[in-house]
Amino acid sequence: RKIGYAIVGLGSYATRQIMPQFVNSERSRLTALVSGSPEKARTLAAQYGIPERSIYSYQTFDRIADNPDVDVVYVILPNSMHAEYSIRAAKAGKHVMCEKPMAPTVRECEQMIAACRQANRKLMIGYRSRFQAHNVEAIRMARGGEMGPTRVILAEHGFNIGDPTQWRLKRSLAGGGALMDIGIYSLNATRYLTGEEPIEVTAIEKTDRSDIRFREVDDTILFALKFPSGAVANCVSSYTSNHNRYRVVQQNGWFELEPATAYTGQQMRVAPRGQPAQPREIALGKNQFAGQLDHMAECILTNREPIVSGEEGLRDVRVMEAIYRSVRESRAVKLT
Ligand code: NAD
Repeated sequence: RKIGYAIVGLGSYATRQIMPQFVNSERSRLTALVSGSPEKARTLAAQYGIPERSIYSYQTFDRIADNPDVDVVYVILPNSMHAEYSIRAAKAGKHVMCEKPMAPTVRECEQMIAACRQANRKLMIGYRSRFQAHNVEAIRMARGGEMGPTRVILAEHGFNIGDPTQWRLKRSLAGGGALMDIGIYSLNATRYLTGEEPIEVTAIEKTDRSDIRFREVDDTILFALKFPSGAVANCVSSYTSNHNRYRVVQQNGWFELEPATAYTGQQMRVAPRGQPAQPREIALGKNQFAGQLDHMAECILTNREPIVSGEEGLRDVRVMEAIYRSVRESRAVKLT
């Protein structure tokens, strides 16, 4: 059987990236919509063949408990709303998929995990790169020591953010700035490439507070991480400069992805020591969006834990809190 998804929040990521991908999935189908805008919901429901009875508002959302067509609630709202809707979904007896960052604070992440555990429901975070072929291969090469042990990871993510009125630039809705939104890809990559948890972080911030976009949130943060194996990482997070890549430097050479975590177009280059870098072709399977939807479906059908569980989302949020703390206190922060 196919697992039924309700999407909460019909914004850009939901409507342009996720909803069009159900046709490419094998185990997942779109069965309900939750929106503050009845017209938007009705138009999309017609387009995706969703019946009127499976359209909810934020007020009627909890009635989703009575809808047998919905197995998973996928929360694609501004960051500060993730915890509330994930917890309400679990209380309605539904499995939860939640976008990154899991929530702005460790406390909220813990509440989300507890709510899903109590309801005996799965919780997965939308870390789509884990289902993207080049990233899957990079993980194998990094952890398998293709060119010896990993020494240094360089990870950079950023873009030049536009509209100064958007929720991403409001602390109350975003929880933080570039780090929460795009720098998290640099952090998450260092963790999935090493398969380790950082033990120490040092960070510096450069935010122009006279720029109207950055009255409330961080622009550029550079952070460095130490891992237990001795590997170290140097990372960029930015809302004013464009980056999307990582390089893994191993004892006997390096490899990189650029773009690394974009929606499409990933490219890998490999440079064994003493040799020029060469492109490496990676076979593309199911795309990352359909792969992510189907992973959750398979976890539900076979009662397994998602590889990107709530605990995984919590770990990134915990490190991000330490990064902000390192900036505030101008010192290295240990993570235990
Ligand atoms: P968006 O602004 O396009 O959509 C947000 C949706 O939330 C809109 O439909 C809006 O109407 C609704 N909403 C409800 N209450 C709101 C409020 N008080 N203020 C503002 N909007 C409100 O944003 P988006 O880019 O779709 O991002 C949504 C979530 O998805 C975020 O958590 C973001 O980090 C995540 N995201 C993930 C990826 C990814 O690649 N995994 C990409 C983009 C966004």
